[in-house]
Amino acid sequence: MATDTPQTFEFQAEIKQLLDIVIHSLYTEKEIFVRELVSNGSDALEKLRHLQLTEKDIFDDKAELEINITTDDKAKTFTIQDFGVGMTRAELVENLGTIAHSGSKAFLKALGESGQKNSGLIGQFGVGFYSAFMVAKSVKVYSHSWRAAEPGHVWTSDGSSYTIEEVADLRRGSKIVVELKDECSEFSQEYRVREVLERYSAFVSVPITLNGKRVNTVQALWLRGKNEIKEEEYTEFYKFQSHAFEDPRLRLHFSADAPLSIHALLFVPKENPEKIGFGRSEPGVALYCRKVLIDARPKDLLPEWLRFLKGVVDSEDLPLNISRETMQDRALIEKLNRVISKRFLKFLEEEAKNRVDGYNDFYREFGIYLKEGAALDHANKDQLTKLLRFESSLTEKGKTTSLADYISRMGTDQKDIYYLIGPNREAIEAGPYLEGLKSRNLEVLFCYESVDEYVMNNVREFEGKKLTAADHADLKLSDLPQPTEGALSEGDVKQLSTWLKETLGERVAEVKASDRLVDSPALALNADKSMSPHLRRMMKAMQKDGGEAPLRINLEINPRHAVIKHLFGLQGAAPEKAKLVAEQVLDNALISAGLLEDTNKMVQRLYKLLESV
Ligand code: ADP
Ligand code: MG
Repeated sequence: MATDTPQTFEFQAEIKQLLDIVIHSLYTEKEIFVRELVSNGSDALEKLRHLQLTEKDIFDDKAELEINITTDDKAKTFTIQDFGVGMTRAELVENLGTIAHSGSKAFLKALGESGQKNSGLIGQFGVGFYSAFMVAKSVKVYSHSWRAAEPGHVWTSDGSSYTIEEVADLRRGSKIVVELKDECSEFSQEYRVREVLERYSAFVSVPITLNGKRVNTVQALWLRGKNEIKEEEYTEFYKFQSHAFEDPRLRLHFSADAPLSIHALLFVPKENPEKIGFGRSEPGVALYCRKVLIDARPKDLLPEWLRFLKGVVDSEDLPLNISRETMQDRALIEKLNRVISKRFLKFLEEEAKNRVDGYNDFYREFGIYLKEGAALDHANKDQLTKLLRFESSLTEKGKTTSLADYISRMGTDQKDIYYLIGPNREAIEAGPYLEGLKSRNLEVLFCYESVDEYVMNNVREFEGKKLTAADHADLKLSDLPQPTEGALSEGDVKQLSTWLKETLGERVAEVKASDRLVDSPALALNADKSMSPHLRRMMKAMQKDGGEAPLRINLEINPRHAVIKHLFGLQGAAPEKAKLVAEQVLDNALISAGLLEDTNKMVQRLYKLLESV
């Protein structure tokens, strides 16, 4: 519908909310709006460059692929014009009136979760185009699409609603006029804008002018030699490229000639956005061929678990006319993927060796991705497993060990690497599973994360050593010279076990004397080998099949423990009371295993027992 009177539109509810916060934000780094608008102009030009490869009929085809910025300190305006793809009427509505930008989306989601107008959050995101409203009284976007048949329009907004009106005689692309708030009039001063541009524009791959003078020489930081690049240049590049506010955590800049020509500049951000509640990250390493952007978010350039990386990969081996849609050269992309992920893993290995604290900090934030990789990325599994870290029965709380270090401490006849899964160190240390291994001087890794069970089951072994759950029903431990003095005899144990099996009935699959108990009277093992106690709890929590299957328990008893010895005596003398004690011992063991489901019954029984004390 073409009209010549302005038509008024309401912003989508989410955008209203976003604008409300952006406009009222006290965020001090308002200058980032310059970066966001430059980045949009540069995106629009890159898109046009791609279209030129396939489209013949492009409007205003002579227009330079450049960005022009002008300031007017009398009118208090900041204007930025690009000759990129531009927007049709429908695109203006879609792109500027509804939520499209992933950063804005993530911002709103985080806001929803924090449940308040936390404008401090803005500092962690690029809110894209809308950042202009931090400094603007009003914003006008004049835009003409590259499609010749479409008319030009002006989109106008003061941040509450917007209008769109047709205008004649526009050039291709977009011109954004920001009418500045009085307190932000500094951005109508050339020197102030120059200062901002000098920091970011060097990384924009299109020419930028400010009031007619060229401000950047197009150069690709990643193609320059490492020792001629200043630390700040790296940092500013990172901030520009990934819309970040904080400095990066780690950086890897490398070049290779064989087997492929690669120049890569990779960054690990400070924070892991998935950890603070954002959805799954999109790939953040852009693919270039000789300084020309091929794809800002290529899907298969890196393995999934490296989705937290930001940066650039440039390969001369890519055909120049390759486009996002026609990235068909699978083999080449796969090769790049292999080379880069191996190189990055080697880098992490060096970090882990040379900068232990820094690596551990990184691991706390991003270790979950390494675990994901170790479990799923077969090609890189060994290297990834080497990078995993766990607390263990021999580390202090909060300190971790690698699997390699664990192996170096193993005794000559230890075959397996043992681990226990639990909510935290205290819970694992208080449970009955650890003591048998501890008393045999076997180190046990402690796993606290819900993915750990899945990871351990998938990794299975490391350097020929099996990863074994210490609460597994099959666990065989070497004989330990236990004090037999005062312990029940073998015959007594046999009799007690048979009696327990009869008395506890369906609830137990097997009862036997334990070789892993030292200080606890009994422990419960899930007889169903395919499902550990931890997995069962998870399935129950997720209401998945399996969580509801009847529990089958192997009960192990400690013939040296006073409670068990007492039970043996009681069983002949006071069978009724002995039955209550037996059931209570089983329930206690189930509690330690995190498997007790009916607490009510247990409480009733306990009262009954207490009556007779
Ligand atoms: P993002 O750039 O991350 O997509 P923005 O909020 O910065 O998010 O921009 C929203 C959308 O508006 C862009 O995706 C693009 O489609 C459109 N847009 C913004 N600025 C321009 C421009 N100068 N030329 C063409 N399209 C633009
Ligand atoms: Mg943008």
